[in-house]
Amino acid sequence: MDLFEFQGKTLFARVGVPVPEGRAARTPAEARAAAEELGGTVVVKAQVQVGGRGKAGGIKLAADPGEAEARAAEILGMDIRGHTVRLVWIERASEIAAEYYVSFTLDRGAKQHLAMVSARGGMDIEAVAAEDPGAVVRMHIDPVVGLAGWQASELVYRAGLDRATARRSASALRSLYRAFVDLDCDLVEVNPLILTTDGQIVALDAKVTLDSSGFFRHPDFPAFREAFEEDPIEAAAREAGLNFIKLDGSVGIVGNGAGLVMSTLDVVSLVGGAASNFLDVGGGASAETITSALEVLTRDTSVRSVLINIFGGITRCDLVATGIVEALRSIDLPWPIVVRLDGTNAAEGRAILDGAASEKVVPAATMLEAARRAVQLAEGR
Ligand code: GDP
Ligand code: MN
Repeated sequence: MDLFEFQGKTLFARVGVPVPEGRAARTPAEARAAAEELGGTVVVKAQVQVGGRGKAGGIKLAADPGEAEARAAEILGMDIRGHTVRLVWIERASEIAAEYYVSFTLDRGAKQHLAMVSARGGMDIEAVAAEDPGAVVRMHIDPVVGLAGWQASELVYRAGLDRATARRSASALRSLYRAFVDLDCDLVEVNPLILTTDGQIVALDAKVTLDSSGFFRHPDFPAFREAFEEDPIEAAAREAGLNFIKLDGSVGIVGNGAGLVMSTLDVVSLVGGAASNFLDVGGGASAETITSALEVLTRDTSVRSVLINIFGGITRCDLVATGIVEALRSIDLPWPIVVRLDGTNAAEGRAILDGAASEKVVPAATMLEAARRAVQLAEGR
């Protein structure tokens, strides 16, 4: 389970990792009150579970409570890579001398924990690693032994973190590793971990993924979910029993089976398009399931065309076609639907679609052809 930054920081504070003091706010007025309580310059931070908030304009400094209110008004409701901001975190601003990168993950292949540390934090770490692989120091940690003091120091020296404050950095690394283990995390990533102008080491960002299999040890963790303002389309899909995930593109995808849907996303991107969602109707989908899948897609205004890709096994293509025809009849579908049916009862399915004689339905013989057509249609070609 992925936490919001402020939830991760709340956990960090519990286990002794230094974090700036902050408050959550759901309205500009709450942001003002939080800034008044904190005093001085604050940072208003969009709480969305996606990186690159800074670049997207979701992180702003505010010198006084009035400004905090104004910045919160701008950031609340903002769309950051498909995620709507419903909550901001107001925290005391930090004076940054250096930005580091730290993460702890599981390396399943090595059956060990993996630490990654870099002196070039604050930016996209994949880009840093691609451009200068030596800038990101990797070290395995034996989970039985834990992160020893000497190992933390070695990470600090090898990554080239500030020497004068090396002891503090090493101690922060050990606290973060303890958080990773004691809180049963799959991931703890801090980008940036900062050195402040007065020599303190502080976690300025927090990306924490909890392992829900460990929740029996942490009865209070499931409550973190309450802060997840579920995407209304995802919620509607879940209620309809559909496995739906919102993505950034414009081609709506419907398929049967997670593997087929994943490969459909790949083929759409191969031909230069981008999927607006992942939607798996599962095995043995009924006509109603297909109709509700299309209904769910009508709620997503970024969809320009839809690609239905079915490989019928236990799923019957004739039922899929019946579901499409029913959707055409009962819903005002705003986009063309490219349909590729193969497998069980495919011929019957195609006949049903032909019979409906709708200009909105575009048949395709193969997945590649279907993807090409759907991408063209999404681009208005
Ligand atoms: P991300 O863009 O989603 O990774 O959000 P971060 O929390 O990592 O913030 C992005 C960047 O904003 C940081 O790398 C800092 O450069 C800057 N930033 C965040 N908080 C502060 C702060 O308190 N003071 C200053 N000066 N900069 C900050
Ligand atoms: Mn960050």
